[in-house]
Amino acid sequence: MSLIPEIRVAIVGGGYAGIAAAIELKTLGFAGSATLFDSRIQHQKITQWHKLARGESAATYEVPFAVLARRFQFEFQHRKVSIDNLLFDPERELGSSFTAIIIAQGSHSPPAPHGVWTLDALRDDKSVQAEVRGTSRKSVTIVGGGPTGLQYAFEFAARKNRVTLYEARDRLLPTFDYSLGQTAEAEAISAGIEIRLNTEITHVEPGIVTSRSGTQETSQQAEHVLFVPGVRSTPSFTCDVSGRLEGVNHANIFAAGDSSYFSGRGLNTKSAQAAVRKGQHVARAIVAAATGKPLPGYTYAEIGYFVSLGPKNAVGYLLSQKAAFSGRAALMLKEATERQYNLYLAGLPVYP
Ligand SMILES: Cc1cc2nc3c(=O)[nH]c(=O)nc-3n(C[C@H](O)[C@H](O)[C@H](O)COP(=O)(O)OP(=O)(O)OC[C@H]3O[C@@H](n4cnc5c(N)ncnc54)[C@H](O)[C@@H]3O)c2cc1C
Repeated sequence: MSLIPEIRVAIVGGGYAGIAAAIELKTLGFAGSATLFDSRIQHQKITQWHKLARGESAATYEVPFAVLARRFQFEFQHRKVSIDNLLFDPERELGSSFTAIIIAQGSHSPPAPHGVWTLDALRDDKSVQAEVRGTSRKSVTIVGGGPTGLQYAFEFAARKNRVTLYEARDRLLPTFDYSLGQTAEAEAISAGIEIRLNTEITHVEPGIVTSRSGTQETSQQAEHVLFVPGVRSTPSFTCDVSGRLEGVNHANIFAAGDSSYFSGRGLNTKSAQAAVRKGQHVARAIVAAATGKPLPGYTYAEIGYFVSLGPKNAVGYLLSQKAAFSGRAALMLKEATERQYNLYLAGLPVYP
């Protein structure tokens, strides 16, 4: 018999953080009920989404929430939740009263010009997915030199597309150490990708992209444009060390994943690894509070991070961002990270 009192937990968003919270509640022997709300019917392994440009189907990287709900014993409700309404009146928005609520709605595409591919469209629009899967020997412009833009640039280049990658800042992977961007840039040049740093896109019309670097404006032909200049979390929540929202009227609302910023020593990077750890952490904090135990600290430290550079290469670091490396070893580590997550979804305890 479980010693944990019956509590009802709502999880809004079933990405890396939300699913990790649901799995952790089950792992802890939680006796209450968990309900997961998601506007999609499938959990998406978005860290592998660039493989659509390799010709692979999105279905390979999706798991129906119904399957995960059976495996990890939660209820699934297919529904978009309004976060504004939730913060105003949680019971009314969720249609029931919950002991604790976890908001894990992730990031969304920023506003984009008309006629471009966005990440949201890539996630949900089957016709965009089909176009991306079939794109070969075309001119493709990618806006944004972060992990997403870079991963797609290498996939498109591998399929003999003419790829131009625009980044407004002075290096690729600008949110990481210089060493990672430098290594990625050298690999991009040898893969035939044209890189335009310090350059902003000012206008997109069918077939033409206009950009500005300093005072110079240039127009270039582009049959396709992928617009991924970074993602936004709307809203993003500042939380205490247990993941509990600060500055709201309700005491038992938590956040996890890309849409949260935790205080404490742990990392707040917008990565799948951090999202899993934050989801686990919040579930542990909720159960600790229910059993009167002290709240655990959030201490997650990323030991490595890898970005795919097409089917045969990757770039990343282990332990220190200053020692970036690419090649087969990086690719093996990137694929190992993906396999670890697959095992996690299968029910194995691979994230202690
Ligand atoms: C193309 C791409 C490649 C990436 N590659 C890597 C990588 O290699 N390594 C890495 O560590 N990170 C990578 N990342 C980052 C990583 O994917 C994110 O940090 C991670 O997905 C965040 O997890 P999350 O649970 O916060 O959000 P998500 O995984 O985005 O999940 C959010 C969930 O919430 C649901 N949702 C959203 N709004 C609502 C609402 N209002 N109501 C109900 N449901 C809602 C969504 O449908 C979704 O299921 C990549 C990101 C992208 C886009």
